[in-house]
Amino acid sequence: MKIVYMDNNATTRVAPEVTEAMEPFFRELWGNPSSMHYFGGQVARHVEDARAKVAELIGADPSEIIFTSCGTESNNTAIAGAAEIYGRQARIVTSRVEHQAVLGPCRKLGQTGFDVVELGVDSAGQPDLGELRKALQHAPCFVTTMWANNETGVIFPIEEIAGIVKSAGGVLHVDAVQAAGKLPVRVDEVPVDMLSLSGHKIHAPKGIGVLYVRRGTKFRPFMLGGHQEHGRRAGTENVPYIVGLGRACEMAREHLREGPGKLAALRDRLEKGLIAACPSGVLVNGDKGRRLPNTTNMSFRYIEGEAILYHLSDLGIAASSGSACTSGSLEVSHVLRAMGVPAEFAQGSIRFSLSRYTTGEDVDYVIAMMPAIVRRLRALSPFSPPEEQQI
Ligand code: PLP
Repeated sequence: MKIVYMDNNATTRVAPEVTEAMEPFFRELWGNPSSMHYFGGQVARHVEDARAKVAELIGADPSEIIFTSCGTESNNTAIAGAAEIYGRQARIVTSRVEHQAVLGPCRKLGQTGFDVVELGVDSAGQPDLGELRKALQHAPCFVTTMWANNETGVIFPIEEIAGIVKSAGGVLHVDAVQAAGKLPVRVDEVPVDMLSLSGHKIHAPKGIGVLYVRRGTKFRPFMLGGHQEHGRRAGTENVPYIVGLGRACEMAREHLREGPGKLAALRDRLEKGLIAACPSGVLVNGDKGRRLPNTTNMSFRYIEGEAILYHLSDLGIAASSGSACTSGSLEVSHVLRAMGVPAEFAQGSIRFSLSRYTTGEDVDYVIAMMPAIVRRLRALSPFSPPEEQQI
């Protein structure tokens, strides 16, 4: 059976070059980088080399890079640290369409008496900057928001957001987990204070992340213990994964030269092909002009996204859905809900996310397989009008 992996916003395959770079650190280079002896010194050099490569990808200084275990830890570190530094007199501003790794810690702070504001988005998934300006009238203010949305691929106007936050004297943390490697994410061009990255979204393994902290930004560590990462993140460094991430960042820099254009062309071919094959009751969710080049989120009216996924999976195609069946009822994605996507469309949403390994053949296979699935599911749907069953 042909296998097509189009769920790269969930995770990416580890690049063979990354595995190769990591291998010696599972075999002969197994020292602890904090050790004073030869074994330690030998690997510490490689950790610093990887730090420089990560810094280079985002235009940072290596001393501003902290290795963590994942994007979730990076986000939690930034948010919990801000709560500790600024206390309950601070306002925490985020958006309704964030990943749970931002919404979770913000909502927990809200439950413990913090003033938390969640900005709304418009029907294209873009944040309400008027609401942001209003929220920033309160001081001190900590803003935590995403660069690009994991479900729709919608890119937030981070330059503009950073300008607004900085001119109001606020502190800005950006979750760039989905943006890095797909767009230029440059902290030397955009004045963010903190920024999160995750290895497994850019062809490094799961279990390694980064928190960038601009020099001079007030910071509190989340993990307490040893003095690793200059006292900013305790815990013995995950050397093989750090080295792998360094290699993945190096490859991401190369990919950024031509990769995004190629990906966008494949994504557009997929989208157009699916719309041509299923012409009625289909919607593309999110701002088409400002989207990650690898992502499309499409809704097929009157059918369930999860049902489409099962059928796709039977044909060897991996994608993901914006709706999840929890205890018998279909729960629509909080992102599509915030955008006001009508329920009959939101329930049938599917995200296809491509990578540098996706081929034109993969795209054509999905285009060829989808119409029969949509037809079969619409025939079972009590709501689907006859003309939509005729595709
Ligand atoms: N932020 C965004 C936007 C994400 O898409 C994800 C993962 O899907 C995360 C944070 C969490 O990253 P990790 O899986 O490394 O914890």
